[in-house]
Amino acid sequence: MKLAIVLALLSALPVFAHTETPQDRVLVRFPTTEAVKAYLREKEIDVTGVDLKKGEVEALVNQDQLLELQTLKAHFNFVIPQTMLRGPDPEYMNPAKIEARLQELAAKYPDLTQLRKVGESLEKRPIWAIKISDNPSVRETSEPTLLFNGMHHAREVMTPEVAMDIADYLLSNYNSDAKVRAWVESNEIWVMPMFNVDGNNRMWSQDSMWRKNARGNFGVDLNRNYPSNWNACNGSSGSTWSQTYRGTGPASEPETNVMMNFVSEIRPVFNISYHSYSELVLYPFGCRPMRTQTAAVVESIGKEMGRLMNYTPGTPWETLYNADGGDIDWMYMEMQVIPYVIEVNASEHGGFHPDYAQWRDKTVVRNRAGWQLLLDRAAGPGVRGVVSSSKTGKLEIDIADASGNKIQIYKVNPDGTYHIILNPGKYTLTFRSERSVLETQSIDVKDRRVTLNKSF
Ligand SMILES: [Zn+2]
Repeated sequence: MKLAIVLALLSALPVFAHTETPQDRVLVRFPTTEAVKAYLREKEIDVTGVDLKKGEVEALVNQDQLLELQTLKAHFNFVIPQTMLRGPDPEYMNPAKIEARLQELAAKYPDLTQLRKVGESLEKRPIWAIKISDNPSVRETSEPTLLFNGMHHAREVMTPEVAMDIADYLLSNYNSDAKVRAWVESNEIWVMPMFNVDGNNRMWSQDSMWRKNARGNFGVDLNRNYPSNWNACNGSSGSTWSQTYRGTGPASEPETNVMMNFVSEIRPVFNISYHSYSELVLYPFGCRPMRTQTAAVVESIGKEMGRLMNYTPGTPWETLYNADGGDIDWMYMEMQVIPYVIEVNASEHGGFHPDYAQWRDKTVVRNRAGWQLLLDRAAGPGVRGVVSSSKTGKLEIDIADASGNKIQIYKVNPDGTYHIILNPGKYTLTFRSERSVLETQSIDVKDRRVTLNKSF
């Protein structure tokens, strides 16, 4: 029978009962063919990870889905690896442990940290972030902000470890390592180790494969809930039972709003959102064939991170499939952040649930090259300054390259700061208030950041 006919017959079958227990689910590994990708998307199967080097994709299926797949075995050529679907190693952190660890750090390093409850989840759990900088209680406008966050998805237990390691590394090496001291003193570094606190609580208490937040008994995928490109390209689901359920509307979830308010306030130059698993560095956009206007910068930095960590770089749609309503699309489009998703770990590390003793340290150490590159790059080629103006209207900066091509329009932040990451070269900046030109200035960007403050 032709595959199309099989699929047509199967689509007439009733929707599966979604009351399975975690023990009923099976991990299935497919070759990454277009037919497999189309099938996984059409059936909204829980795709857990990819291995681009081997050309494989893994998915979690329930018993009904497995039965259906068995009838398609000849087409899809999948295997059921002898991987135990183990639960989380109890060494990994839950929301209470994260809070305790952050409070410990804040108490030990009061001159270098500011611990902040950024907001609350749906079930009223605090969402914490720690700022690491000199003069941490003050916003120093000369210093770029960077954000590192973990765990949009509840089962990705390695991701708070990677984020906490950033804080641990910076604070514990501040006194002994001149490079670390320079990073801390010349940047405002925010670490939010665990964003999806409710989902993680549910992961520990009910379902080791829980991914979404705690909305109802189904959950919303927080990384399909952001308003930019929400429901734009078949990269999420409208079905509550789906693992990529996007919610009833853009930013319908309180957690999404917490992140959006926080990013609007701190205006990071760079962000990394840590996910697992697949060993990827992802950059915007999530929808085929969209690329960022500043891809020459965004993608080259992403590729360099990938090279340093031996992770594969790309957009979501290049590496596997469309993803709409993700945080990096919103951060780039609305907040001018240069944002990345890093998918840590691989299937052979245990997927979502790697053995702690075997993989925790290896993973966080391997990831240091990524976030450290961004700290270096914040001081590297680009231009930063503060614009003070008595003019009414929004301040914008047009950036043109040496050939006169306009490569970016930058909206000056509400506090007057701006920071444009550039590749080395000659540029012309045109400062505008709405349509009236305030000043035009040429700059020669070499390997260090140019400082350019303006008053109009
Ligand atoms: Zn994820």
